[in-house]
Amino acid sequence: MAQQPLVASSSTTGFFQALPVLQPQYTSLDSLPDANRKLYKSSADTSDDKVLARILDLYLPPNTTEVTQHAHHIARRSLDPSILVHATDAENNHPVLRPLTTFGEENRNDPLWTTSGWQKLKEIGYEEGIVAVAYEKSHTMFNRRIRQFVNNHLWSPTGTMTGCPQSMTDGAATLLGKHLTDADGDQPGRRKVFTEAYRRLTSRDPKIAWTSGQWMTERTGGSDVSGTETVARRLTPEELEREAREGRIVDSVGSQLGPWKIDGFKWFSSATDSEMSVLLAQTHKGGLSAFYMPMRRRVGSRAPSVTVIDELLPPRSELNGIRIQRLKNKLGTKSLPTAELEIKEARGWLIGTEGQGVKEISAILNITRLFTAAGSIANWSRGLAISRAYSKVRKVRGGLLQDNPAHLTWMAEETVKYWASAHFAFLGVAMQGALEQDWDQMTANTKAATLIPKDRMAVAALLRLLLPVMKAQISVASVQGLRQCMECLGGVGYCENNEDGGLLNIAKIYRDNLVNPIWEGTVSVMAEDVVRVLIDKRLGNGNILSNVFVPWVRNVLARYSTAFDFEVKIINQRLEVLLNLVQGADKQQLLYNGRDILNHLEAIVSSAVVMYDAWINPEPIAHMVAVRWVRSKALNLQAVQSPHDWKTTVQMDKAIFLGHSDADASGQSKL
Ligand SMILES: Cc1cc2nc3c(=O)[nH]c(=O)nc-3n(C[C@H](O)[C@H](O)[C@H](O)COP(=O)(O)OP(=O)(O)OC[C@H]3O[C@@H](n4cnc5c(N)ncnc54)[C@H](O)[C@@H]3O)c2cc1C
Repeated sequence: MAQQPLVASSSTTGFFQALPVLQPQYTSLDSLPDANRKLYKSSADTSDDKVLARILDLYLPPNTTEVTQHAHHIARRSLDPSILVHATDAENNHPVLRPLTTFGEENRNDPLWTTSGWQKLKEIGYEEGIVAVAYEKSHTMFNRRIRQFVNNHLWSPTGTMTGCPQSMTDGAATLLGKHLTDADGDQPGRRKVFTEAYRRLTSRDPKIAWTSGQWMTERTGGSDVSGTETVARRLTPEELEREAREGRIVDSVGSQLGPWKIDGFKWFSSATDSEMSVLLAQTHKGGLSAFYMPMRRRVGSRAPSVTVIDELLPPRSELNGIRIQRLKNKLGTKSLPTAELEIKEARGWLIGTEGQGVKEISAILNITRLFTAAGSIANWSRGLAISRAYSKVRKVRGGLLQDNPAHLTWMAEETVKYWASAHFAFLGVAMQGALEQDWDQMTANTKAATLIPKDRMAVAALLRLLLPVMKAQISVASVQGLRQCMECLGGVGYCENNEDGGLLNIAKIYRDNLVNPIWEGTVSVMAEDVVRVLIDKRLGNGNILSNVFVPWVRNVLARYSTAFDFEVKIINQRLEVLLNLVQGADKQQLLYNGRDILNHLEAIVSSAVVMYDAWINPEPIAHMVAVRWVRSKALNLQAVQSPHDWKTTVQMDKAIFLGHSDADASGQSKL
């Protein structure tokens, strides 16, 4: 037989990998034409990210089409090339500092430059209500937090770190929202200022919407803010008069400047392009206090030399006593203008009671930690979506990765971990919503009615205990998960793929995601926080574990003890081990075992909720995910063996990873 001549490849000839096609992560049945809708049972059948669809199904009442259609729309907007172009712009063109004016003076007007892509992504975030939907209080019949965090899940990897300022904005809105009815007291005008800021923080209109920063970390430490060196003091009447004479009366939108003067230095500020910030400072009374500060103030508001021409111009403004010392040079989050700030004679308002700053700012931290956990899930989800798409087109040893058993068993295991973490994070989200809304209106009519306690005190205590666990464990798990997603793509996974809309750039997502275990409190700090809760005599009648946590877990496990007999035993064992670890231990011992406590709490709660979902909404993939996850958490792994041979198991691996069997794969591509 004559041999075919060898043909050498070149840069333009030879093999070219077909481009993987990312499916929208969520496809709502409600958004499909009638004919297509009839082909499917639920949105989980039509969605690429099945667990997200199941989460919506679990926590929303039936027929909440406004929510599901919005999520459907954002899932498509996130993959729209005309929007992805902003994401690659923000990723490639980093913020720049211009500290001096043309003639060498300090640039107080516009020292920070951010790219138009970054600004556009922020605008889209406002329009889609990434923060605002949680505050649209006319919606009482569904969990607004579920809606918000599902949208955030679909948007945030495309949003390219705009989610960071948005999370702080949400936290600031929650904090200011608690003080809108406070009397002005000795700060006349404060309520009006806070009301205006709150209106802007919760607005969907990019023309008026604000983001907020959160300035806690100083050179002395972010984990322990007791060393804060920023100082605030009341301006004397003479000083206030002088300020007025010099034209410093109102901020850039005309709200009165506060009666406090703030000086100090902040070591990390991420939302440096925000319009306001909440910060901690010492006062002479002792302890830390929380302050509201607008970023800009008008200059020359009452300057005597205003001419007719000046009046026609928009009012001039400058930074409110803030100097950006330098931008941080970071491993990831490149689009985010994280900076060091010197604060000199800035004007602000005291929030709440003097000396109670740490308590006040915890309202922000509760929200930002939830965003950190849920944002980690969002990043991980996008990583897995890319992995699925790639596995469908990439060939090794003559076959597609999607048919390779070794590849499938590995990626199925990764998918199981992701599902469990997603359920864990969204349990926190659902509980946050339950604290803000009426259980009878919002939860009673959902499949989660026997998961989310009706007693608000119990929900508050559970969330107080579990939020630091979620923040710590999910952040770290997502870092590990995204590393696997990078490996899934081989060498391409390690590259900064900013072509083709940057959709395949897992490296960027990985770099960005790596900060999640650090900011808003490191893992050790979260473990310490959990210990604080465990020994807090004010929670759960003095013993949160025995009086709130264990009864709740046992009640949930009891629902499906027949369906998951073996798995429930595994979790009960872990519960016993946790109780033995905690009960009778003093604080120092608990701190020493902090990470073990985090591991147990995560294993118990994520297992409880994954099984709950598979039981209340039965479906083979969900069932198998639950079984696999819980068994992976068994203390004695040797006693746990797969009931199936590997050839049967690999079919299930494929269904878990790709979300469907070979039979219905063709239908998926039409969505
Ligand atoms: C990209 C980025 C953006 C940021 N943006 C902001 C922002 O906008 N606003 C803001 O306020 N901060 C911001 N930060 C700061 C961040 O919150 C802090 O870095 C973080 O809280 C840790 O504080 P630290 O850096 O001072 O480290 P440290 O607190 O000094 O921690 C060092 C080590 O000590 C360990 N440790 C600390 N306390 C304990 C303990 N009790 N027990 C055991 N171990 C302990 C930590 O786990 C860590 O390993 C940002 C950080 C980054 C990286």
